[in-house]
Order: sequence, then structure tokens, then C-alpha cells
Amino acid sequence: MHNITQLLGKENMDRCICNIFCISRFALLLYRRKLVCFMIALIGLLTASCSTISARLTYDFEVDSLDERLLYEPRTEDTVGKISTHLDEYIEQIETAQFSKFKDSSNIKIHFFNDKTRYLRFSGGRPSTFGSATTNGASISLARIRERLTENLCQTKACPETVNGVLLHELSHVHMRQYVGSWRYGSDIPSWFHEGLATFVSGGAGAGLVSEADAKKSILSGSHLVPVNTGSIFKRPATVGDFSWGTFHFYRQSAMFVEYLLNTNPTGFRNVLSDLRAGRKFRTVWKTNYDAKLADLWANFTLSL
Ligand SMILES: [Zn+2]
Repeated sequence: MHNITQLLGKENMDRCICNIFCISRFALLLYRRKLVCFMIALIGLLTASCSTISARLTYDFEVDSLDERLLYEPRTEDTVGKISTHLDEYIEQIETAQFSKFKDSSNIKIHFFNDKTRYLRFSGGRPSTFGSATTNGASISLARIRERLTENLCQTKACPETVNGVLLHELSHVHMRQYVGSWRYGSDIPSWFHEGLATFVSGGAGAGLVSEADAKKSILSGSHLVPVNTGSIFKRPATVGDFSWGTFHFYRQSAMFVEYLLNTNPTGFRNVLSDLRAGRKFRTVWKTNYDAKLADLWANFTLSL
């Protein structure tokens, strides 16, 4: 007898759980609205979920000859070739920055896509994303990265959303996710912390050309993330940082706050990560390690700007 995890594989189960999260979240958001809308959304999400699982079961990839953790589509050989001898360096970089070895770095799979549609189907991510992560791997949209780097803005200044930058950013998510699992990753730890950490350790990948000065101005004007202390699978956090005012701003502000937390109490920050990996609730680790509420730490951060 095979159980469903054996049949689908861990990666597909992981993605399946993510899509169930999304479906549940949408279901709750739409609960008070018309049933027809709910059904349409549910059917759409189920279809997307099936599409993702189907893509994961059927897509073929080339395997890099030097590092079999790298899998790629045709016409991405050159890009992957530049990474194949460096993946362990990137992994070590994340381990150093996040104060811990990966739970399992040998079975990580990094998929590189030359086609945005195939990336979307496989990862289940949003069209605008450069990459996405699961507990044991990442998908990198080289098409989206190319699109980004050929924008006029990125012709005059160096944009951080390079292949290396995006890969580091996603590896940061994989590192956390390996320890806390998909459920806690989404339900317990807020996105500002995930994205702040990943953007910070990747040298800004995700924050675009929003400078710290831009973010400071934005925060002081009142347009800023709200440092919620829980995840947001079943409820939308009460925050203006809901990306409507700019994903790049959200990522830059999040990275600045994470960097502030690290610099003001390096030992505390290290222990926060350790506690999260050990299964402690996100909302409890600040009192333990900083002797402060998260809201007070945010207030101190804004005063420091
Ligand atoms: Zn991210």
C-alpha cells in the first residue's frame, strides 16, 4: 500500500498543502459574500492546484552534470552552468547568516525555468514573482528575472533581482521552512519576517531599487508595514503593508527592521531563530530574547530612523 505522500512525493504534498492553505484562506475571506463567488473561487483554486500537481508530476528537466540538485529547462544551460560549482557556497552563506545548517541540504532541488507559464504551473506562485520556495527546494523564473533586468530602471542602476540574488533569497525561505514546516511557516511566522530575513541575507533581492532612504521616508510618512506577530493563512493581517503600496517597499522595510533587530541584539536575534526552529511560537520569542514586545521594538526602530 502507498500513502498519498509516497504517491505524490514530498514536494508535491508540500505544494498541495500550500494550495489547501490558499483555498481555506479564500474560503474564509469569501464566506460572507455570495456563494456563487465562493464556488467560482474555490473551483479556480482547485483547478490551479491540480495544474500545479500535474506539472510537478509530468515536467521533465535536465539534471546538471556537476550538481544534481540543479534541474533546468532547455536554453538555460549557460545560466545554470555558472551556478553549478557554487551552490554549496550559497548554501553556506545562508547557513552563516541564519546561524544554522540546513536541516537537509543534500536533497534540495532547484528548478530553473525559461518559460514563465511553466514556472507558474510548477511553482503555483504569482506571475510577478522571480522565484518561490518549498520545504525542500526552489523554483527560479529566469524569464521573469530577464524581464526585470532589462527594465529601463535596471539599465541605469544595478537591480538586486539577479539569478544569484533570487537564489539566495529563496534558499533563505527553504532553510526556515525545512525546520518549521509548511503549516507553521505560513500560520505562525508573519510574511514581513520571512521576507525581511530573505531580503536581508540575499543582499536586497526583492527590494528592487527602493533605497533605505526611500523606505525611511515612507515609514515616517505612515505608509509602512505593521509588525504583526503571527502568520496570515486564515486571516489577512491588519496592515497597510498588504503590497498595494508596493512590494519592493514592503521588502525593503521588512529587511531594514530585521537588520535592526539583528544589530541591536545579535545574541537575541540568533536565539529568536533558534527558538523558531525549535518550534516556539513567533509571538512568544521576543519577550524571551529581547525582553520587549514586538510593537515596542518596531517603535524603537522607527525612532532610530
Ligand atoms: Zn521571499
